[in-house]
Amino acid sequence: MNQNSLFFRARWRLAIWYSGVMGIILCIAGVGAYQMMVHAHWQGLQDEIESVAGTLHDTLEPMLQQPDRMSPYVQNVLPNLCVVTEPCAKNQQNLSNRHILGVTQTNAYYIHFRDRNHQTIATVGNLPEAEFNQNSVWQMIQDNQGHRYYQFSLLLKNSAGLPWGYMQIGRSMAEYEQHLSESRLALLLGLPIGLVAIAIASWYLTKIAMQPVYTSYQQIQQFTADVAHELRTPLAAIRATVESSLAMDVLLENDSRNILSVIERQNSRLSQLVGDLLLLSRLDIETSSSHFSPCCLNDILSDLIEELAPLALTSNLNLKLNLKTETRIFVMGNESQLYRLFSNLIANAIQYSNVNGKITVCLTMQDREAIAYIRDTGIGIAPQDLPYIFDRFYRANRDRSRTTGGSGLGLAIAKAIVHKHRGNVQAISEFGKGSEFIVSLPRLLT
Ligand code: ADP
Repeated sequence: MNQNSLFFRARWRLAIWYSGVMGIILCIAGVGAYQMMVHAHWQGLQDEIESVAGTLHDTLEPMLQQPDRMSPYVQNVLPNLCVVTEPCAKNQQNLSNRHILGVTQTNAYYIHFRDRNHQTIATVGNLPEAEFNQNSVWQMIQDNQGHRYYQFSLLLKNSAGLPWGYMQIGRSMAEYEQHLSESRLALLLGLPIGLVAIAIASWYLTKIAMQPVYTSYQQIQQFTADVAHELRTPLAAIRATVESSLAMDVLLENDSRNILSVIERQNSRLSQLVGDLLLLSRLDIETSSSHFSPCCLNDILSDLIEELAPLALTSNLNLKLNLKTETRIFVMGNESQLYRLFSNLIANAIQYSNVNGKITVCLTMQDREAIAYIRDTGIGIAPQDLPYIFDRFYRANRDRSRTTGGSGLGLAIAKAIVHKHRGNVQAISEFGKGSEFIVSLPRLLT
């Protein structure tokens, strides 16, 4: 395919389109997945802070007594608590079995207790410096080093239900931001790798997609070359005959008759070829079976045997019809095409048989099918030729075909007619011993 510039260019164009469309889809899907992941992470982060804040709120409020003063009981719940009026005790014990509070022991979290005037009462962890913003529950804070924290503020009440002060719980964004930057990196590296993989896959996919088109293109080219070749021989013969007769000074009546008979022979060969080609193209184009009518295969085969008997007799061949059933077998079809189908097969059996050979035509039925066998004891077909004999212009034995005037279209026409009638044809042969052609057609059920 790559040697043909037309197909090579078309393949390139198709591959570029494939890669472009698939690449755009991949990019959109990648960016969409990233956005969804960012959203899910953000939501998870908020839920986590809220959950920790809620648990602390429920745990601490019953312990709080005097407003703006830290209760000593809180120290038991938050061992890292640092009260501004007292020296900071860094007690790290008995933390392992307290999950929520354990979370606040990690470097990611800090807790800030403020009195009702927003002055610091106590802290847990490392606080970033920030103004107190009474209006916003959620606040994004950035410290001097550029580290960001997400903070949740809530009012605490004491055990008597009076406002005690504020608790701010914040979480470092470092882990979240690192995770996102790793995901972005994966996306940035993954997308080009994905695009390269798509480009390579597209190149191979276009080959698979274009292969059937390329094969039919080659077949058409081969067919055109074969037609030209077949037409050239009779045309060259006519031309040579005419030129040689023109070169003669005197043309006797006998010579004229010979010349005209050569021209007539070649002309009928040309007509036969053109007629066969027209029939083939009609069979290719016509797909409708609306003009089909019931055809009796017994009658068609009997007529053909009668018609071809004299031809068989000239080669001393024994041609006979063997009807395996008394029933008349009908198929829906085009009678003249069916006639042509069996005529081609029986004529071939006669052509490719040796003197004193035997040709048997059998007709039988099986379930919903009518089956015809055309058997001969002729020259047979070599195994290497057998797969190709139904191809257009294929001739297994070119020398013999030439003498019989065969163009190699007979079996191609037979196959096209059988397919048009939704049937099947196959050949079995033993080289040197004979051949059998089996035609099965859908039977008209009465
Ligand atoms: P042709 O016009 O050459 O007969 P066909 O398409 O009818 O073309 O047949 C194709 C080739 O198949 C023939 O050239 C011949 O070699 C082979 N063939 C067809 N029928 C028979 C047969 N009954 N016995 C042996 N060879 C056959």
